[in-house]
Amino acid sequence: KLYNQIQDLRGNIRVYCRVRPFLPGKVSSSSSVAGIEDRTITLMVPSKYGKDAKKSFTFNSVFGPLATQEEVFTDMQPLVRSVLDGFNVCIFAYGQTGSGKTFTMSGPKILTEEGLGVNYRALNDLFNIQEQRKDTICYEIAVQMMEVYNEQKGIAVPDANVVPVTSTSDVIDLMNLGQKNRAVCSTAMNDRSSRSHSCLTVHVQGRDLTSGTVLRGCMHLVDLAGSERVDKSEVVGDRLKEAAHINKSLAALGDVIAALAQKSTHVPYRNSKLTQLLQDSLGGQAKTLMFIHIAPEPDAVSESISTLKFAERVA
Ligand code: ADP
Ligand code: MG
Repeated sequence: KLYNQIQDLRGNIRVYCRVRPFLPGKVSSSSSVAGIEDRTITLMVPSKYGKDAKKSFTFNSVFGPLATQEEVFTDMQPLVRSVLDGFNVCIFAYGQTGSGKTFTMSGPKILTEEGLGVNYRALNDLFNIQEQRKDTICYEIAVQMMEVYNEQKGIAVPDANVVPVTSTSDVIDLMNLGQKNRAVCSTAMNDRSSRSHSCLTVHVQGRDLTSGTVLRGCMHLVDLAGSERVDKSEVVGDRLKEAAHINKSLAALGDVIAALAQKSTHVPYRNSKLTQLLQDSLGGQAKTLMFIHIAPEPDAVSESISTLKFAERVA
């Protein structure tokens, strides 16, 4: 109850920001991030003329390079749990390729227990609460994985079935299967994965054992395609078409969330496949978390600024 009261005070749209650490062996003497203080991140913006400028952005939470996966998840836990009370939830990881989206959502390439990302922690948490409440509510939890590539609804798991799950190990098995299928589909898997949106959807149904009331909620955990702008002079053909699709769907997502944030009467869901797919879970009573990711390298600064501006617009 208290969790949901806190959520309600925060409104339906929240924005988090995470700065990843420098990668091992690539530590740089300077960072584009001048500082993180409480909920504010300050960037060093190089100026062609004279003094570099600083620009600050404030969000609901800002995580620095030392933040652990556990700290990050703990902040999101009330939002995740609200799906058990019948809310629809969307969590988006946004940022340029290499900024840490997959790290946050799934974890590092070689998974360790501390490395487990939001997807695993969220499901694990739901299973724990399912167990705690089992004498009063019967929950059924099922997951579905899909990939949205080039504005088409692609499928990572065969037949995109909604698969009932009862434990975290079921989920890990399923995700491994999804990953393998992606690898089979495309030899350049890493490359491809940064150019598609991958979505893990958790469907929850809870039946109150005394009243018989049934509540349904669903949560979409979305690792978005890389937000970097592609230099049109450098790519042609399929690659250019992909870039155009990515731009279109990320822009459409930004437009939808900005319209919701401004409580606008017209919400332009129909402008992309991604927003059409998620329409039922964006707006109304649904809760949205836009989780932006920043790479600290000075040469990433212009992408970082465009990411922060995207976030500022939807906050
Ligand atoms: P993206 O999915 O945005 O392209 P990744 O999640 O693949 O980026 O991150 C790029 C690299 O940085 C990976 O090697 C990843 O393990 C590492 N990385 C990202 N975020 C962190 C973090 N918070 N702590 C440690 N390593 C990270
Ligand atoms: Mg990734």
